[in-house]
Amino acid sequence: MARRSIAIYGKGGIGKSTTTQNTVAALAEAGKKIMVVGCDPKADSTRLLLGGLAQKTVLDTLRDEGGDEVDLNEILRPGYGNVQCTESGGPEPGVGCAGRGIITSINLLEQLGAYDQELDYVFYDVLGDVVCGGFAMPIREGKAKEIYIVCSGEMMAMYAANNISKGVVKFAQAGGVRLGGIICNSRKVDNEQEMIEEFAKRLGTQMIHFVPRNNDVQRAEINRKTVIEWNPACEQADEYRALARAIDNNQKFVVPTPLPMDDLEKLLIDFGLVDGVAPGTEVVA
Ligand code: ADP
Ligand code: MG
Repeated sequence: MARRSIAIYGKGGIGKSTTTQNTVAALAEAGKKIMVVGCDPKADSTRLLLGGLAQKTVLDTLRDEGGDEVDLNEILRPGYGNVQCTESGGPEPGVGCAGRGIITSINLLEQLGAYDQELDYVFYDVLGDVVCGGFAMPIREGKAKEIYIVCSGEMMAMYAANNISKGVVKFAQAGGVRLGGIICNSRKVDNEQEMIEEFAKRLGTQMIHFVPRNNDVQRAEINRKTVIEWNPACEQADEYRALARAIDNNQKFVVPTPLPMDDLEKLLIDFGLVDGVAPGTEVVA
C-alpha cells in the first residue's frame, strides 16, 4: 500500500496531540510503520510516544550545531511501537515566525533522509486555528494529502474547524489535499455527537469517530504514556483503536464546503447550545 501522509488540525487545546499520539499508538500496535512530525512550537506532539524523554527539537539542534553537522538520529527518535518521532520546535518566543520554522525543519528532515525509510504513515500534528503561513506548509507543499480536524461541540472549536476547512479548500485547488473527516473529541456538550455529525455532513465530510472524554487520558498522560501503552485493556484504548481503524479504512476524501457564519450559528442554536434558548426555537435576529 502506498504511504499515507496525514495532517491533524484543530483549535489549540482541543486534543490534537493527545488524539494523534493515541491513534498512532493504535496503528503501531496493529503493525504499521509510522513517523510523527510535531509542527507546534510547544514541541509536545511526541511526548507520550517517547515516554516524556526530552526530545531536542529540529530548530534547537540547527541553532546549536548548524545545518551540516546535524545527524538524523539526533532529531528523530524511536518511541512506542517503534514510531519515529520528531519535533520541529519554534523560534525563541517573540522572535521570528513559527511557521517558517516548520518549513526549515521539514526541509532538513528530507535532506537527512527521514522520509526515505519504509513507512505506512506520516502524521503531522499542526498548531493553529487557521491554516495560514508556515502552518499551511504541510498541506500547501503537498507533504500531507489527508486532513483530519479535531473538533468538539464548543462554538470556538467549530468556528476553528470551519476556518480550517476554508484553508483546505484553498490548497485543494492547487495541490491534491483532501479532508478525510472530523474527529469529535468530546467536551460533553449537549447533543454533541448529533451536532458534530450534522456539522460534518454540511461540510461535505463525515464525523470519522466520536472520542469520549475520559479521565484515563489524564492518568496515562501523568505517566507520560498513551492510554494504549498505559492500560491496553481500558475502554478509551478501544476508542482510539476504533478511530485508527476508521482512518486506516477511510475512503471518503473531499474538498470541504465551509459554512457561512449564519449557518454555523444556526446549527449551534438548533442543537440547543446557546444559553437560554431551547433546542429548535426560532431566533429572530
Ligand atoms: P492540542 O494538541 O490540540 O493543543 P492536547 O492534545 O495537548 O491539545 O490536549 C489538551 C489536554 O486535553 C491534554 O492535556 C489532555 O489531557 C486533554 N484531553 C485531550 N483529549 C481528551 C479526552 N478524550 N479525554 C480527556 N482528556 C483529554
Ligand atoms: Mg498539541
